[in-house]
Formats: sequence, C-alpha cells, structure tokens
Amino acid sequence: MSHLSESEKKSWSIEKSSEHYHVEQWGDGYFAINEEGHLGVLSQGVAGPSIDLCDVAEELRKKKVALPCLIRFQDLIRSRVKEINETFRQVMKEYGYGGQYTGVYPVKVNQMREVVEEVLAAGQPYHYGLEAGSKAELLSVLAMNTDPEALTICNGYKDQEYMRLALMGRKIGRKVFVVIEKPSELPLLLDLAEEMGVEPLIGLRARLSSTGSGKWEGSIGESAKFGLCSAEMIQAVRFLEKRGQKDCLKLFHFHAGSQIPDIQKIKESIREGTRIFAKLQKMGLQIDYLDVGGGLGVDYDGSRTSIESSMNYNQKQYVSDVVYIIQQICQEEKISEPNICSESGRAVVAHHSCLILEVFGEVEKVSGFKDNSSNASNGSSDGHSRWVREMREIFEYLKPETAMEAYQDAVAVKEDVYSAFKHGIAELEDRAHVESLFWELSRQLVNFYESADQAPEEIRELRQRLSSQYLANFSLFQTAPDHWAFDQIFPVLPLHRHKEPPTSSVSLVDITCDSDGKLKSYVSSDSIRDTIALHPLKKDKPYLIGIFMLGAYQDVMGDMHNCFGRVNEVHVYTDDDDPEDFYVEEIIRGQTVGEVLEEHQYSPRALIRAFKSEIDRRINEGKIKPREGVRLVNLYEETLKGYTYLGSRHFD
Ligand SMILES: *Cc1c(COP(=O)(O)O)cnc(C)c1O
Repeated sequence: MSHLSESEKKSWSIEKSSEHYHVEQWGDGYFAINEEGHLGVLSQGVAGPSIDLCDVAEELRKKKVALPCLIRFQDLIRSRVKEINETFRQVMKEYGYGGQYTGVYPVKVNQMREVVEEVLAAGQPYHYGLEAGSKAELLSVLAMNTDPEALTICNGYKDQEYMRLALMGRKIGRKVFVVIEKPSELPLLLDLAEEMGVEPLIGLRARLSSTGSGKWEGSIGESAKFGLCSAEMIQAVRFLEKRGQKDCLKLFHFHAGSQIPDIQKIKESIREGTRIFAKLQKMGLQIDYLDVGGGLGVDYDGSRTSIESSMNYNQKQYVSDVVYIIQQICQEEKISEPNICSESGRAVVAHHSCLILEVFGEVEKVSGFKDNSSNASNGSSDGHSRWVREMREIFEYLKPETAMEAYQDAVAVKEDVYSAFKHGIAELEDRAHVESLFWELSRQLVNFYESADQAPEEIRELRQRLSSQYLANFSLFQTAPDHWAFDQIFPVLPLHRHKEPPTSSVSLVDITCDSDGKLKSYVSSDSIRDTIALHPLKKDKPYLIGIFMLGAYQDVMGDMHNCFGRVNEVHVYTDDDDPEDFYVEEIIRGQTVGEVLEEHQYSPRALIRAFKSEIDRRINEGKIKPREGVRLVNLYEETLKGYTYLGSRHFD
C-alpha cells in the first residue's frame, strides 16, 4: 500500500521527497536533501557546508563502526548556543534594554561530557553558564564551568551536602546561585554559609499559577512540586531581612515547563513571573537576575502550530516577547531592568544528534490464501462454506457509500468463523479463506479512503494493521524513550533514494521483544501519520534511515530493555577543507554484551567459566569432540565482547 497516487509516483522528485518528509519545516534549516537524493546536514546553518549522511555512513563502514550509530554534530550545538545568545543580545540592543543576558544550559537535558564541553566552548564569548539539578550534576558543573563571570545555578531539592558543594563554589570565586525550592532550604543554607564563612548567592523559585500546556504540563502550576507560593516567598524575604542578609537574594526564578507549544502560555508565565519579581524588588530587594527558566520549544513536526510536537513561534519571537514583557512591566512598576537569564535546554541540544540505523527485513502483515476449495467443509453447491459465501457476498455489493456497513458485516462473519472454529464446526481452511477475504476487503476499504483527509478511526486502524512492518536494527527504549513513554514525535526518514518514490506504506519496528517497540507516528507534509512511506527494500542493498532530533533528554533516559545497550557514537565536525566537508573526531564504542550483563550483576568471567565447565563435562562424557568444544567456548566469549545489536549487512 502507498500514500502516493499513480501520478505522484511518476512525477516524483527530490523536491517532492523533501516536501513529503517535511524536511525543511522540522529541521529549522539544518537538514536538506541534496542533489544525489541523500539527506544532508547543515550543522553550521544554511550558510555552511552540507554533510552528506550517506558519506558519514560510508565513513563508519570504513572505520568498522557498526550500526545503529548515534551521530553528534558538534557544530550544530555551537550554532544553537550562538544563536540564542546572539538573539538575546540583538533584541536587547534593539529595545534599548537596561540589563544583560546571561543564560545557562541545564545539564539534565543532555549531560554527556562532550555535549556540555561543546556548549561551554561555544558559549564562552557570552559567559554562558550551566544549571545543575542534583549533587552529581553539580560536581560535574563545578569542574567544568570555570568562567568566574558565568552563572552556575543550582536547582532541585537540596541536602546539606549539595549546599556545601554550592557554597564551596563561592569559595573558589564562582557565581554559584542556590535556588530555594522549598522554605526549609533557606535557614539551612544561611547556617551552612555562616559556618563556611562565605556569602551565599541566593535565588528564589516561584511557583506560578499559569501553566505551560503541552505534554509536561504537570510539572508546573500550583500543584507543581517545586517552588514557593506567594506566602512562602514573602516569608522568605522577611526571614532574610531578619537575619540581615537581604542582599544575598540575587536571583528570581520560575520555570513554566518544557516544550511549551503556545507562545501565549509563555507570555502569560513571563508576565506573572515578572510581576512577582517586581513586587519583591519593591519590598526593598535588589535582585540582579531574573531567570525565566526553560520551555522554549522545538518544532519536531514542522507544522508551526500549537500542537504538542510543534510550536507556534520561533526563537526570535520568544526572545522578543521575553525582553519586551520584562521591560514593559519594569517600566510600569518603575523598577530598573534586571539581567535576564534563561535555562533553555531542549532548544539548544535537540537538533544535534540523530541515529543512523539499518532496515534489515520486512514482515508482511497479511498474506493471501490460495483458494483450493475442493476440500472445504460445510460443503454446499459451490464447495464453499457458508462463511466464505457470506464474505463473498459482502464483497460483491461493496461500494464506497456503504463501506462502513460492509466492514461491520465482514467483522461479524470473521468472528463467526472464529467461534465456529473453536467449537470444531469450521475447518482450518474455512478460517484461512475467510481471513484472507477479510483482509482483501479491508484493503479495498482503505483504498476508498485514500484521498479522504479524515478517514474513520476503524479505517485508520485497518491501515496500520494492513501495512507491512520494516524491521529496524535498534531499540526504541534505548534510543527514543520519550516516543514510547509520551508519544513524543521524532522525524524519521531514509538517508538515500530520495529520487525514487517511497511506495511502501509501513511502520517501523525495533528488535526488542516488546510490542511497544515500534514507532507509532511519523512526520509528513500534511499531518502526523500512523505509517511512513518508505522505499521497497532491495535484496542485498542496505536501506538506511535516520531518526532525528534526539539530542534532548533521550540520551539519559534510554534504558536497556532486552539488554540492548548504549549504541556506538561518533562526533562529527564540519571541515571546509575536507573533500567530504567533515571529519569524525571521536568514536565512542557502544556497550558490549558483557558490559550490559555486568550492569545487571553478572560477571562475564563467571559466565564463561560456567559455560566452559558444562562443555568440559560433555567432552568428558564423549558427547562433544574437544575441538568442537573449544569452538563453542570461543563463540560464547566472542559474543560477550560484541555489540548488543544485530550484525550489520552494512559491513558485508
Ligand atoms: C528541565 C529544566 C529546564 C530545561 O527546560 P527546556 O524546556 O528543556 O529548555 C530548565 N530549567 C529547569 C528548572 C528545569 O527543570
């Protein structure tokens, strides 16, 4: 089956392919199909060179890096960091804004050292800082963020140890802010600071009443687990006053949630937050920084709408609104304009990584039944059972106007034959014949709705059930856990063959033994679809696809379902002087089978020992020849040292 009409297939082109997969819409200009019909990455933005992902795959083959492989485009991180900083600068200048922009990158979005290092390196000219949410994150942040001008912001619940670490940062001259998430943290912090003899930098996190909407809505608003309500904020200020440490309160923070698709929601939270900030300032405080948190979205589907996987604004609009609203409220409240801090994570790193994987086979969902009617039971004049006859009748009168009735009748006949089969009345052949007719009918029904925008729910379900599955060598749970957990959409498309029409409408399933291990929704030009149009597989020719925009949250949330471990990873840099316009700077090997087992308390050595003693016993009993025994033990050991994913045809 195919989404494409005959004429579309005939006049297929690279432009059509680009439109079909919506590449230029979701990619923010970082992805484009090149003249060869391959997908290219413009990791420095539209003005920079394009890296052909097929060339990258070829390089992996040469370097013996097996697929699936995660590619990090380090320049893309740079480009994003630069963009957010430059945009804030530009907008502030344009508006004559009285403060400065000092952003931080929240490391929880992607804590990989190389990612954080790249963020810091790119952010150096802007004194771009880091945000930590736990002790472990703070330990890494303290070691990495060495710029005394850049901020370090400590969020999350804190114990004494966490606070001591933060205060230690003050001792070595860093701008480490401890953000108070709940009232009891404040006295604890002040006591520890006194004991350690340092002046703390304190932030207050407000709990807003405005909610951000979108998938992560529950993390904010009045029922959020973080932040102080209005009464608690006033108490905190009074407490500081009483201790004579009002001057330590230097930052005011709120966070309206992640991936906020609607700019109105963002504006509301900025308005509410800034208003609270202004009222606090008027209580005689001098808070230098207004920290507006994260929430800046990413357009995963390219629709530019306020649906969850998209956003109805761009980065420039976000920045303009933030600066404008803060400026306006400060003017109204007659207070000076604070420095603005933001904690965008997703928008900074989501684009930078993708997974290249290989499709290694196809499962056709429904196969036809060869009519061999002579031996049908419940025989009648034409030799067919009554269920088959009924099914044929439905077929005969099938027309688009009464399609849904026909479908319901067909379902009834199918259920009838199943029930008869269970009671020993129908034969296996009857069942097979009815099933086969049912699927044939379903195919026709789906075809009736080919052009209709809004097919009924049953038809859409049928379409998915009828579509073949392409088997892809990866684990959804390791690579894109948010797709499994929240239906988060990630763009998927082939890396090559864009000159050919993608005539197979399929769904992509992974290699875990879990029926949830499949991609359920796909980006396409006009909507989110439940199947994806891909090319027919060619014998002995690898078919490579990419899953994109995996850079935010997925790396750390991925799990080891079925013991499929971390994937191979390479870091790619753009290089104008290179004939391919790129080079692979680093290869990080994915986990071996042994490493994954070790994480679950197995000792590979003990496993080998146990296996070997079993083999030895068999050799002693004369059941296996010694030479063969050695081979078997070698195979066991080699597999332990190998990659957890399936062997790749890419290397044959
Ligand atoms: C997670 C988090 C962020 C990052 O949000 P994004 O939407 O990814 O930019 C920022 N600030 C805080 C406090 C967070 O918890």
